[in-house]
Amino acid sequence: MSISYNITNIKNRMSCAAKRCGRDPTSIRLVAVSKTKSFMAIREAALVGPGHFVFGENYAQELHDKALELTGLPIEWHFIGHLQKNKIKYLIPMVACIETIDSIELANAISKRVTRGTECFIEVNIEDEKSKSGITPAGILPLAEHILTLPNLNLQGLMMIPPFDPNPEKSRPYFKKLRELLDKLNGDLKLENLLCGLSMGMSHDFEIAIEEGATIVRIGTAIFGGR
Ligand SMILES: *Cc1c(COP(=O)(O)O)cnc(C)c1O
Repeated sequence: MSISYNITNIKNRMSCAAKRCGRDPTSIRLVAVSKTKSFMAIREAALVGPGHFVFGENYAQELHDKALELTGLPIEWHFIGHLQKNKIKYLIPMVACIETIDSIELANAISKRVTRGTECFIEVNIEDEKSKSGITPAGILPLAEHILTLPNLNLQGLMMIPPFDPNPEKSRPYFKKLRELLDKLNGDLKLENLLCGLSMGMSHDFEIAIEEGATIVRIGTAIFGGR
């Protein structure tokens, strides 16, 4: 199937999942995960339209090169990988949102370099899996409080990759948990404007994630094919 067909299909499925649980489909954003995919594939996807398109990349230098090559297309770039501090320079000023902040140190380093209002998410390692980055649930509140003191970062909410299981229903408890962690965070922070961003759900489980409250789904394989 073509990339444009896949995107239309995913958007329809997102819409149906939202309606099934009484949510407004326009409150959920699709991030097309284009890591390892060519300029041509991204250009094709970006031109499906309408309007603005969000792409996610995992490697800072790859995102930098693609953003430069594709200047002029209506693309918003999200960084969704593990970010090493010495790679932050590649992201600026290319990136609209960094979804994977998992330490105070990293938050400080990013805030020093990005422009005011750069959106960000805290990445949560819900099961404390050794192979994954992300902060443990207990670390969320102190990190969020710290990010809120930084001048340039605009905290949106929480992001997570659940432990992989081919059966999407196995992801549901983790999605529920992330939503509860966001509710708890809002209860603790008592901000005037609640944080409402939940970035969760990938190719095989995004419909379940939407049912559990995702506001961003990150989809690679189901749009661009295998990597
Ligand atoms: C690769 C990746 C995705 C997309 O995964 P698919 O299963 O290909 O949809 C989503 N989120 C993150 C953080 C990723 O690294």
